[in-house]
Amino acid sequence: MTQDIRLQMGLRPIINASGTMTSLGASIVVPDAVAAIAATLPQFVEIGDLQKRASRTIARLTGGEAGFVTASCAGAITLAIAGTMTGDDRAAIERLPDASRLARDEVVVQSGHLVGYGAPVEQGIRLAGAKVVPVGQATSAESYQLAGAITERTAAALYVVSHHVVQYGQMSLAEFIEIAHARGVPVIVDAASEYDLKGFLAQGADLALYSSHKFLGGPTGGIVAGRKDLVRAAYMQNNGIGRGMKVGKEGIVGTIAALEAWETRDHDGIRARERAALDLWQETLAPFDGVDPVIDPDPTHNPLDRLRVLVDAPRAHITAWDLADRLGQGERPVIVRDHEVEHGYFYLDPCNLHPGEAEIVAHRLGEELEAARRSNTVIASDFLERRRRRAVSTWPD
Ligand SMILES: *Cc1c(COP(=O)(O)O)cnc(C)c1O
Repeated sequence: MTQDIRLQMGLRPIINASGTMTSLGASIVVPDAVAAIAATLPQFVEIGDLQKRASRTIARLTGGEAGFVTASCAGAITLAIAGTMTGDDRAAIERLPDASRLARDEVVVQSGHLVGYGAPVEQGIRLAGAKVVPVGQATSAESYQLAGAITERTAAALYVVSHHVVQYGQMSLAEFIEIAHARGVPVIVDAASEYDLKGFLAQGADLALYSSHKFLGGPTGGIVAGRKDLVRAAYMQNNGIGRGMKVGKEGIVGTIAALEAWETRDHDGIRARERAALDLWQETLAPFDGVDPVIDPDPTHNPLDRLRVLVDAPRAHITAWDLADRLGQGERPVIVRDHEVEHGYFYLDPCNLHPGEAEIVAHRLGEELEAARRSNTVIASDFLERRRRRAVSTWPD
């Protein structure tokens, strides 16, 4: 076997038990996409024709009229919003992000959807030159508030589907669409991480946006799908603000291949393998006092379960964050999903593991918990200090 390229480059050979994280390289790109990318990279292609080919695949898989591939879902948000403001007016497209002469430049979004996925959702809107109009409060948004926020200047209504958003007190997509459409406002759904490729458009959304590099296992990229006029207007931004968000031939062919592989993927087999990993980890953790592993379904109903590992520090002799940090060290660092770790738990996500890695994760869990058990004191570093340390970037040092 050839040496792991990560070692050749002086990088740590991490095991990803945290899910689909951009900062860890997103997902395992499926073999069909890898092959399509390798075959296309040395060739010239007519990008417009390649995007037409992508449009057919996207339309088939999403049920939309048309689609195209963009650099990322974040880019897709900006381009889609821009398209709702400019239509196919090329002069207006070149004037963006100056939207001062456009009839419509406002975007309504529920306050509970104005979250971050590594960058603020609202910034993706403002990048197009649009103004964000928040609807309701973070924890509640009502239909009268959406109706009241829409004016003759409203270009679009954005709806975010994600575990990041506030999961209660928000309008359902159906209600959101009904109110926006009654006022002639198109609805864009940010569904970056959602396995459901058809549901949002089927419910009446005008555009649905996805990431290529998340559940699909494609290269870094994004997908815009839906109403042909809006897809076209978003695509035309490639000659304007979209230039800096350009996707290359490799991103387009890789996304087409990942979508086609999605159609034939053994979804049940993958689910069973993921379940086996969760069972193994649960068994591994069972003998440890103060550690409570619970299987949690995905908050946005993707067909994906995770193991929530609750750590009672006095009994386990270690805090949840210290356990997470220790797992992330050593020869095979295991990176866990720890964005809520101040509550005393982290998640183990089985969706991005290579064969054999679930066993390594189990071994490392046992190793670190056994070391904690033998420790005379509770391993408890200061959480605030950890938070501060992680907030500071020392790059490139
Ligand atoms: C990941 C994510 C994005 C950004 O997607 P990229 O393709 O990585 O740019 C946008 N919205 C949500 C809800 C996400 O989870």
